[in-house]
Amino acid sequence: MSQNESLLKRLQEGSVLCAEGYIFELERRGYVKAGAFVPEVLLEHPEVVRQLHHEFVRAGSDVTLALTYYAHREKLKAIGRENDLEAMNRAALKIASEVAKETGTLFAGDICNTSAYDVNNKAASDEEVRRQYTEQLQWAVDAGVDFVLAETLEYVGEALVALEVIKKHNLPAVINFASNLEKTKDDYDLVEACKILKDNRADVVGFNCSRGPAAMLPLLKRLREAVVGPISALPVAYRTSPANPSFQSLKNSDGQPAYTLGLDEFLCTRKEMADFAAEAQKLGVSFIGICCGAGPHHVRAMAEALGRTVLASKYSPDMSQHYLVGSADYAKKHEEQFIDHFAGK
Ligand SMILES: [Zn+2]
Repeated sequence: MSQNESLLKRLQEGSVLCAEGYIFELERRGYVKAGAFVPEVLLEHPEVVRQLHHEFVRAGSDVTLALTYYAHREKLKAIGRENDLEAMNRAALKIASEVAKETGTLFAGDICNTSAYDVNNKAASDEEVRRQYTEQLQWAVDAGVDFVLAETLEYVGEALVALEVIKKHNLPAVINFASNLEKTKDDYDLVEACKILKDNRADVVGFNCSRGPAAMLPLLKRLREAVVGPISALPVAYRTSPANPSFQSLKNSDGQPAYTLGLDEFLCTRKEMADFAAEAQKLGVSFIGICCGAGPHHVRAMAEALGRTVLASKYSPDMSQHYLVGSADYAKKHEEQFIDHFAGK
C-alpha cells in the first residue's frame, strides 16, 4: 500500500491526528520574529525545527507537516529574502521528510493563503496564485510528500486553484478554510465553501486556525451534515467564544488587542484541547488537529483523548505522586520523610 492510500485508508478506519502551529511555538522559543512570522529558522537553526517535529510526533501526531507555511513569495518579499524562497522550502521539506521516515508518520506538504489573491481581479490573481502554488508544490512533489494540506484559505477562488494544482500531481488534498467571519472573503458561507471544494474532488475539507475549540465546534456540526466523507478540524489553542469567535478578535484585560503577543492570556488548557478532540471525534471529524498555540502537552492530551497511548505517554501526569496534591498516602509518606530528615534519621 502506498502512503498516498494510507491517509485515506487511515481516515476510513479511524482518526488521523495532525499537530501544527509551528510558527507560534518557534516564536515563543525565540526562533521566529513576530510580525512577519517568516520561518527563517529553517535556514538558520534547522535542528530546532527537527526537534519540534519530533516532539509533536512523540506526543501523538500521525503527520509530519513540512514547515512551508508563510514560506511563500509574498511573505519573503516583505522581509527582503525572496531569493531564499526555494532554499527555505526545500529545507522544510527535507527536515519533515526525514522525521516522517524516522518516525513512520505521514509526510505532508503545506501550502496556504498567498496574500496575493484579489477578488476584484480574479483572472489575473488566479494566474498569480497558480504560479506560486505550482512552484511550491513541485518542490513538495520532488521531496515525495504523501499528501498536501492547503490551509488558512480565505477565498473559495484561491482554494480551487490550490486544489487544481494538487490534483495535477494526483495527491490527496486536505483543504482547510480559516475565517474570523461566517463567510469567506469572496462571500461564501464557510460550510458552503467546503462543499464546493468537496464537489471539486477535495479528499478532506474543513477548517484550521482562527477559531478556538468552542467557536469551531458549531461549524463542524453544520459541516458534518452538509458533506459526505472525511472532514477536518484544526482549531487554535486559544479560548475564543461565540461572541469573539476568532483569536484575532480577542482583547486582553487591559482592553488592547490580544493578537498576537497577548494571546497567552487565552491559552487553552490541555484538558480543553483533549475535550475538543473527543467532541470532534464524536461529531464524525476524522482529521483532527491543532494549529497556532499548540504545545506538545496539548497534542499528547488530544491523542490520549482519542484513546491512544503514545511515546510521550510514558510521562503522562500522575498527580497522585505529588507531595502536595497527591493521594493521602503519598502525602503522608512525604511528610514522614520530611520529619525524619530534620530529626537527623
Ligand atoms: Zn494557526
